Amino acid sequence: MADDLITVTRPSLPDLEKLQPLLEEIWKSGRLTNGGRFHEELEARLCEYLGGVEHLSLFTNGTIALVTALQAMRVTGGEVITTPYTFAATPPHALLWNKLKPVFVDIEPDSFNLDASKIEAAITPPETTAILPPVHCYGTPANIDEIQRIADLYGLHVIYDAAHAFAVRYRGGRSLLEAGDISVLSFHATKVFNTFEGGGALILKDKKTKQRVDYLKNFGFANETTVVAPPGINGKMNEFQAALGLLQLEKIDSDIRARQSVYRKYREELMGIEGLQLMEEPVNTEWNYSYCPVLVNESFPLSRDDLYSEFRKQGGILVRRYFYPLVSDFPMYFDPSAVFENAADTAQRILCLPIYSDLNDEDFGRIISCLREAANGHHGGASGRGQ
Ligand SMILES: *Cc1c(COP(=O)(O)O)cnc(C)c1O
Repeated sequence: MADDLITVTRPSLPDLEKLQPLLEEIWKSGRLTNGGRFHEELEARLCEYLGGVEHLSLFTNGTIALVTALQAMRVTGGEVITTPYTFAATPPHALLWNKLKPVFVDIEPDSFNLDASKIEAAITPPETTAILPPVHCYGTPANIDEIQRIADLYGLHVIYDAAHAFAVRYRGGRSLLEAGDISVLSFHATKVFNTFEGGGALILKDKKTKQRVDYLKNFGFANETTVVAPPGINGKMNEFQAALGLLQLEKIDSDIRARQSVYRKYREELMGIEGLQLMEEPVNTEWNYSYCPVLVNESFPLSRDDLYSEFRKQGGILVRRYFYPLVSDFPMYFDPSAVFENAADTAQRILCLPIYSDLNDEDFGRIISCLREAANGHHGGASGRGQ
């Protein structure tokens, strides 16, 4: 049974033989962390690869990078506008770690991104200090022009949680990561570009901010004896992960092409199934096909949750309800008077189907036949498959 499971994603890894010589180099040098050769090289290579990025600082993971981004911008008090439709532990948790109050604003029904037209109503000067972090949800660009216009008008910082947006380009090939004051990347195992568990980066606008961030991720040490405020944290990426990252970068383009072909096969198949709505590829964008989000509409015979269970029961297929429940429904954030209609509706209907670069035809076929059976009303019994 375990061999039969299809998971929602599968990390892409380089050939193990390619890693061996890099590990030997690390062993020989005796340098495991603190800005070693592979760390420096990965920072430089990522700047090149991402396009138009000049200042980047590697991190131990996306969450610590997010926490540090707020400190780098000196967002130290008040309220911060953010989205309820995001991964559980971030970004609101990053706000709480910094003793900031999240103020949730609803999302757009199609892009699943923060609805910029609802931001101004949520701003309460002088408490509001930043807009953060509008997630480029599933890699689809947020409404960056309008968000920047509002931020400029009210003097707010904008920090993008770009954990979904690795390698996404828009408007004639420019990096999406140049939007806002800072963009935050995650290289977690489940992301398009991974450096094992852990790994992340901040994309910064200038050398001075990069310097400050480099101090902050090293406990705030500017040199052996000087520590700068605020306290700083241990957020450094180690040499092993950086070496792995260099190998991952060699095949990221082919991984994304493979994901694109899976996505387009889904699109063809789903066009023939009433009641399932695959997310549209964003226009004028080189997308990264990081997720395969499908809305389960009223006209589908099963509810989203029943379809979710059916996948598990019949096919051993572990689809995921990204993002459900809403972060704003967690006890530490819950406010009974706040209603986020689009976010709540999306969270009830969304289902992310398996997508990864080496999803093979056989497994793809199993996913589609499970969908078809559910669509034709054949469900609820044991099919025998994977039982
Ligand atoms: C993965 C993710 C993060 C950060 O995750 P880490 O595991 O800490 O690297 C942040 N925001 C979103 C939206 C994510 O999907």
